[in-house]
Amino acid sequence: LLLFISILAWLNLRRVFFMQKLTAESLAKSEERFDLAMRGASDGLWDWDIVHDQVYYSPRWKAMLELTTPEEGRPTLNIWLSRVHPEDIERVNQALDSYLAKQQAYFHVLHRVRNQRGDYLWLLCRAIVLWDEQGKPLRMVGSFADFTAQKQAEQALRDKEAFLRLIIDHIPHIIFWKDRNSVFLGCNQKLAVMAGKKSPNEVVGKTDYEMVWHEDAATFQAKDRELMDAGQPLYHFIEELQTIDNNLIWLETNKIPLYSESGQIIGILGVSEDVTQRRFAEIALQQAKEAAEVANQAKSAFLANMSHELRTPLNGVLGFAQVLERDPSLNQKQLEHVSVIRRCGDYLLTLINDILDLSKIEAGRVELYPTDFHFGEFLQGVVELFQMRAEQKGIRFRYETLSQLPHGVRADEKRLRQVLINLLGNAVKFTEYGSVTLKVGYDQGGIRFQVEDTGIGIAEEDLTKIFSPFQQVGEARYHAEGTGLGLAISKRLVEMMGGELHVESHLGHGSCFWICLELQDVSSLLKIKTVANPKIIGFKQSCRKLLLIDDKWENRAILVNLLTPLGFSVTEANNGEEGVDMAKQTHPDLIITDLVMPVMDGFEAVRRIRQHPELQNTAIIAASASVFDYHQQESRAAGCNDFIEKPIRLDLLLEKIQKLLQLTWIYEQADNAAPPENAMLTAPPLRLSANVHCNPEQATELYELARSGDIEALWEQLEVLIQNSEAATQIWAKQLLQLSKAFKVDEVAVLLEPYMRPQP
Ligand code: ADP
Repeated sequence: LLLFISILAWLNLRRVFFMQKLTAESLAKSEERFDLAMRGASDGLWDWDIVHDQVYYSPRWKAMLELTTPEEGRPTLNIWLSRVHPEDIERVNQALDSYLAKQQAYFHVLHRVRNQRGDYLWLLCRAIVLWDEQGKPLRMVGSFADFTAQKQAEQALRDKEAFLRLIIDHIPHIIFWKDRNSVFLGCNQKLAVMAGKKSPNEVVGKTDYEMVWHEDAATFQAKDRELMDAGQPLYHFIEELQTIDNNLIWLETNKIPLYSESGQIIGILGVSEDVTQRRFAEIALQQAKEAAEVANQAKSAFLANMSHELRTPLNGVLGFAQVLERDPSLNQKQLEHVSVIRRCGDYLLTLINDILDLSKIEAGRVELYPTDFHFGEFLQGVVELFQMRAEQKGIRFRYETLSQLPHGVRADEKRLRQVLINLLGNAVKFTEYGSVTLKVGYDQGGIRFQVEDTGIGIAEEDLTKIFSPFQQVGEARYHAEGTGLGLAISKRLVEMMGGELHVESHLGHGSCFWICLELQDVSSLLKIKTVANPKIIGFKQSCRKLLLIDDKWENRAILVNLLTPLGFSVTEANNGEEGVDMAKQTHPDLIITDLVMPVMDGFEAVRRIRQHPELQNTAIIAASASVFDYHQQESRAAGCNDFIEKPIRLDLLLEKIQKLLQLTWIYEQADNAAPPENAMLTAPPLRLSANVHCNPEQATELYELARSGDIEALWEQLEVLIQNSEAATQIWAKQLLQLSKAFKVDEVAVLLEPYMRPQP
């Protein structure tokens, strides 16, 4: 038994010994593994012996701290806590206390730790505690994971966001972004303020309906839907809205779709500019424009009335002058007086037209009327006019054609003449010595008129001013001779014709104005007019019936006097209503009707006449003193075949009547025509001619009469001279008489001046 017990004890001892050996071996292995794990782990590991307050640092942990020497003596908890960031220490202590007090199941805390260099690392610390049998903590083992890079990236993101916030809160635009259902995901401060919220956060999660008036919200969301449906950005559309404090504001908005990574639209980014100020300015401008337009209308109406008022009596003057000019019972003297009345009337009419023209241009109501005309005759007319003016001033006038010119062109002849007369008039006016030259060249539809002078010239700094209305530059002595409107009108007219007016000038040396213009060559369309038409005295067809409708008896009387002798049978009506009745009764071949009349105006009368089946083809000419082009158009719309301006020019009226009634005129016989001398009278008188015999005393006497304005005495003296002179002098004196009868006494004086000195 003893042996058995001894064997058992020995076996047991062996087992214990063996077990001990085994435990020691496995312990060594596990320590080795732990050590290896400590070395190999990417996290820093530590082991705190709580009982002896000793902390073990793993090599990785030391490397993270950049510890090259052993930690200050023997590392303890406090030594290691001293590395924790002051702002985090409380959090770390709290976590530790509550874990050790077993209030927390895990120890888990993110905090900053200073390394040896003094930089802070963001570390996530995780640990567990080993407890003894009484539940007291023995050891605490944990790891540190380095979150510095993540934390830095997060910080950078936050910095970037803050920077973006700073931008979007401080740019003067409204910025917002919404999801697909138009729910706000974010916005800037400006939108929040507009919506009456304190911060953008209060906007997040809301829709437009919760922030602006229902109607406005509906239009905003309609735009969102439009964008969603089209999948395209919407730019620069104007939104109008009423804010919660009842202010009306206008936004100019761009909305662009926001896409997910897979290309789906996930929302909308909107940028709006507050354009309220601009909108108000536009509204104010529009109102000002409308007010100006109303004022312009009023001005136009005034002008129309004035023009009507001025032209109507002139129609009487000029009309009866034309009647009298055709009256065979008048003697030569009476005929001359009538012709003075006619010329003065013509001059007055031109003046009225020019003044109206200016006003019409200012009101933007000028229209061009292009016609086909003879270019050569047109230029000849202009050249003759200025040859005379230049000669009177003692300067040379030259006309040069730079290329072959078309026979006929299409343009508004009157306006083109007006522009050339202005340029040439200025050239002569501002030139005391030397010459004025008109050059004309034509190339492939482009025409160039160039007016050069050797006059006073224009300073460089004044060159742009002169095209503005009422701008006169240079020497003041010339200012009284003009108004400063000519170039402003010319430039606008040329531009209306599609051309350009330019100038080049050197002070003291002269100026050059030129116009470049497209002019259509219509030579092939134009019948070449060779001889002036002689006087019409009747027509070959049988008598034609005419109805005159005009409320002014004098207007009717003029036409009755002019047309009855030619073979028309004329009836008269006092207003539109009477006119319609008369037309129905008499079935005239032609009706000439005024437009503005009491009882019934011309437009209405013509409309009613046209309703009558038998009067549908009757020729109707509207005659009006109105300056407005729309009257012309309106009269045609009412049913008139043609339009003639008052005061009526007989030749023009006859041309229209001939066309409408297909008449063949009978002309006055050649031997009744004007004597050839008359032709010479129409040519401009020469400044000094060797064939004219007027002695210095006679010339001085006439000159003084002209200068003093004693017109009647001047006429008498000139008559005496005509009586007592031979042919050449007679013609010259008659030309002076003609000028004086047109009250052009200054021109008469200029022409007399050279004869006041003894002739060589
Ligand atoms: P007006 O001749 O009636 O004064 P314009 O509008 O025709 O008005 O001309 C404006 C101004 O331009 C003139 O007053 C003059 O100072 C200047 N000007 C025009 N043409 C010439 C020119 N050929 N030579 C010198 N100055 C000129």
